[in-house]
Amino acid sequence: MPIDRTDPPTGRLALFPGSFDPLTNGHVDIVLRSAHLFERVLIAVLVNPDKKPLFTPPERVEIIRQVFREYPNVEVDTFAGLLVDYARRTRASAIVRGLRAVSDFEYEFQMALMNRHLEPTLETVFMMPAEQYTYLSSRLIKEVFSLGGEVRGLVPPIVEERMRRKQGAGVQGAGAQGAGAGAQGAGAGAQGAG
Ligand code: ADP
Repeated sequence: MPIDRTDPPTGRLALFPGSFDPLTNGHVDIVLRSAHLFERVLIAVLVNPDKKPLFTPPERVEIIRQVFREYPNVEVDTFAGLLVDYARRTRASAIVRGLRAVSDFEYEFQMALMNRHLEPTLETVFMMPAEQYTYLSSRLIKEVFSLGGEVRGLVPPIVEERMRRKQGAGVQGAGAQGAGAGAQGAGAGAQGAG
């Protein structure tokens, strides 16, 4: 059932859903652009019990909270299940998604139209990051890092530090290998959509 909009929400809230495992500078770019456009941005960390993440959902929430601690209109939370249900509960007006390349388009288009089918009043807004982040993905960051590559400048400093700590503790990061991480990203998106 569509949301009852006879009682309009106060202040436009945008949801930015995703896995954020880990948060990259591409995500940060999209969040900051959204924070200019909307009164509030809620970063919604998808909890997917089937996946073996590098960072647990509470760890991701803690990291994200620290990164945006100086932005009072940026919030973070976790969700599971249908994204449209979560949007109804939070009274969000829009879903924000980042578009990096043409390769993102088809899947994002399908997901946006499915979400519109499920909840016609909820709009999906696409944003492009700064060019230098268009090739960045959480999967690639994990892969590069696990192979000893430099990720400085590609993720917030706290993410790099936390990744080093995990590495020190012997956690190489689930999904560090390309195929596993790729499957993880796709699954999370599908669940977010419906
Ligand atoms: P998902 O698994 O749902 O794709 P992600 O955490 O990877 O979750 O991504 C969440 C959102 O952030 C998606 O809309 C994705 O397109 C966007 N995103 C991811 N990386 C970047 C980037 N480098 N630049 C812009 N948007 C990005």
